[in-house]
Amino acid sequence: MTKVVFREERCKGCGLCIEVCPKKIIRQNPEKLNSKGYFPAEVIDMEKCIGCAFCATICPDCVIEVEK
Ligand code: SF4
Ligand code: SF4
Repeated sequence: MTKVVFREERCKGCGLCIEVCPKKIIRQNPEKLNSKGYFPAEVIDMEKCIGCAFCATICPDCVIEVEK
């Protein structure tokens, strides 16, 4: 199964990965703040991930790594 890993501390909550995900399975975690003061992005339903890596490609801060 594909695994999408976020380096949460680098996320600035810009939302680009959320917009680009074709499966709409990324959100900003409303219960967590990183040390920069942003709600970090996370995948909420990994089973639906198709491993396209669009999220990793668009992230300007290299937060996301897609492992297959
Ligand atoms: S790899 Fe594709 S489907 Fe999976 S979370 Fe990223 S954008 Fe969404
Ligand atoms: S694109 Fe990168 S910086 Fe922006 S919300 Fe997603 S993981 Fe965070």
